[in-house]
Amino acid sequence: MITTDICIIGAGPVGLFAVFEAGLLKMRCHLIDALPVIGGQLAEIYPQKPIYDIPGAPGIIAEDLVKNLYMQIEEFKPGFTLGERVEFLEKQQDESYLVKTNEGTEVHCQVVVIAAGLGSFEPRKPAVERLEYFEGKGVHYMVRKPEQFRDQNVVLAGGGDSALDWTVFLAGIASRVTLVHRGDTFRGAPDSAEKVFELAEKGKIDLILQAQVSSLGGNGVLKEVSITGNDKSVVKVPTDHFIPLFGLSPKLGPIADWNLGVEKSAIIVDTFDYSTNIERIYAIGDINTYPGKLKLILCGFHEAAIMMQSAFKYIYPDQKLSFKYTTVNGVNPF
Ligand code: FAD
Repeated sequence: MITTDICIIGAGPVGLFAVFEAGLLKMRCHLIDALPVIGGQLAEIYPQKPIYDIPGAPGIIAEDLVKNLYMQIEEFKPGFTLGERVEFLEKQQDESYLVKTNEGTEVHCQVVVIAAGLGSFEPRKPAVERLEYFEGKGVHYMVRKPEQFRDQNVVLAGGGDSALDWTVFLAGIASRVTLVHRGDTFRGAPDSAEKVFELAEKGKIDLILQAQVSSLGGNGVLKEVSITGNDKSVVKVPTDHFIPLFGLSPKLGPIADWNLGVEKSAIIVDTFDYSTNIERIYAIGDINTYPGKLKLILCGFHEAAIMMQSAFKYIYPDQKLSFKYTTVNGVNPF
């Protein structure tokens, strides 16, 4: 059995940064993630996408942010259990917790931090004829390795941030990019939408609005998509890849069974310290909800800092915590 002060469920950016905030207060952490790698959504959904709103790190590529976060916490020697899903939380007689995974790993800790992001996420699949047949043969629900699209024909579908961001990015490496969207305005960030319209005006991408991909064709591998307009006209576009980006449907998975207050698949927390309705269990990052919540990495970082100050009382019940700056704590991870 692994023994630690704090068990963090989820090694996304917020879970990783929480280790730093715990380390400043001399609290040890063990992280568990269902994915085989650290980084959460940044590693799994958009490793090559630039992120523009991390303070002090403008335009940082997602996987570089994950590397930097790891470098920042290495000094505190966190433990990792990767590729295993947390299934059970068991309260012990002394109020501590036993955290158990699907592979039988057990972590004994004083405090549990749920930084589980979207939970176990599944892509939303549009109603497109023969979509599932072409999975792995040209249909992708995430862009994991953008390089695989170099000099290829790619059709994307969707109107949110993912569809816009990947259209802009792939326009620079694919031989032809077509974005299909059922409306004529986008849900995603206005700045990204503007870039997409600009690329279309300059003839660098094909933008097909008020239309949907209706069926896929090919013999063994994808060769073309049929696009049906709102006016019922049909065009066939030859392509090597079809990337429908209609978001992820969050599935809380086992977390839903832990008697936590939950609203719309997110854990309700008190913004005083991001604690849940169960003592010694906190929730930070995308997994939590409160009035005004923004699902942004920097908001999760803030929540981690506040939360760890609150958790201190369970790890060092006899000590009074006085706030200090990092230089005073003697921490210099570089
Ligand atoms: P996650 O990154 O989701 O990590 C949670 C981890 O918990 C996952 O690895 C998951 O496997 C694990 N997990 C879940 N349940 C269990 C379980 N039961 N057992 C074990 N492990 C579990 N935010 C920004 O601030 N700026 C941006 O530019 C930006 N761009 C984005 C672009 C896209 C396409 C997307 C999808 C999101 C973007 N975001 C952006 C949002 C950002 O990625 C999230 O806010 C961030 O990832 C949340 O971090 P997290 O650590 O809370 O959760």
